[in-house]
Amino acid sequence: MSSTFNEFYNEKTGLTIGVNGILFSEQTPYQKVEILETDSWGRMMTIDGMVMLSEKDEFVYHEMLTHVGMFSHPQPERVLIIGGGDGGTAREVMRHPSVKKVDMVEIDEVVVQASKEFLPQVGDWGNPKLNVVIGDGIEFVKDISVPYDVIIIDGSDPVGPAAGLFEGEFMQACYDGLSEDGILTAQTESPWVESYHPSMKQVYTALDDIYAVSKMYLAYIPLYPAGMWSFSFASKGGTDPLAEVVLQRVENGVMRFEDELKYYNPEVHRGCFALPNFVKDIIEP
Ligand code: SAM
Repeated sequence: MSSTFNEFYNEKTGLTIGVNGILFSEQTPYQKVEILETDSWGRMMTIDGMVMLSEKDEFVYHEMLTHVGMFSHPQPERVLIIGGGDGGTAREVMRHPSVKKVDMVEIDEVVVQASKEFLPQVGDWGNPKLNVVIGDGIEFVKDISVPYDVIIIDGSDPVGPAAGLFEGEFMQACYDGLSEDGILTAQTESPWVESYHPSMKQVYTALDDIYAVSKMYLAYIPLYPAGMWSFSFASKGGTDPLAEVVLQRVENGVMRFEDELKYYNPEVHRGCFALPNFVKDIIEP
């Protein structure tokens, strides 16, 4: 083992992983993108020194960010992903047979190039349904002409180019760009990182104000700060992700590709909306 990767998520607590080598490192106009080789987690992508994904645990984040929302829509055909340059979210979206087109708007083409070269199995890059747009998702959503059935916010932490992805104005533009029964899901950080609480509350308050239904949900992701990660769900038309019709759709739908899923299943869909009291306290007024 030649070195260690350290990510501190508060002054004195962090994650340490043994690293065998740095396969890729580039300072782009937006951020520093690196691909590291590790024994314990496979290849790992970091942005500005923060873990974005590892080969070994990426399935949790991508399945949970995608399927909770996708199954809540009766027939998702047009899907927009903001960020997501590693390709993992698009891969999960395209498992749904109803999907006809996926637009993925990633601000940093280096993330896409490095993922294709060093993490090729994370994405389904050859799928003709996938349209990769290199651009700022915040600008893109201001100008949506054909509405999307599902919008997924797979952005980075609320600093730099991703800060605007946590603002009410952006959530309103997504609402305007959704079809009448449209669904939005977003990654909304770790409840254990206090410096992110204002962003979590900001997103949740905006979704609550703008959308007919909004809920937060959780998953366990080992390489993210303290292992607990939050996501947000919002429905324009009032779909409750725990409604009987959705649960039935999850039961029937998962059967089509359950062999390909390693985390998400009908029990996880039902259980992920159960929030511990300290998490409720972060987002509730
Ligand atoms: N799983 C990760 C995490 O730790 O939360 C997030 C995935 S990473 C692929 C997030 C991506 O969002 C990065 O590639 C970054 O370049 C992109 N991004 C950040 N701000 C963006 C913006 N305004 N528009 C489009 N993409 C953006």
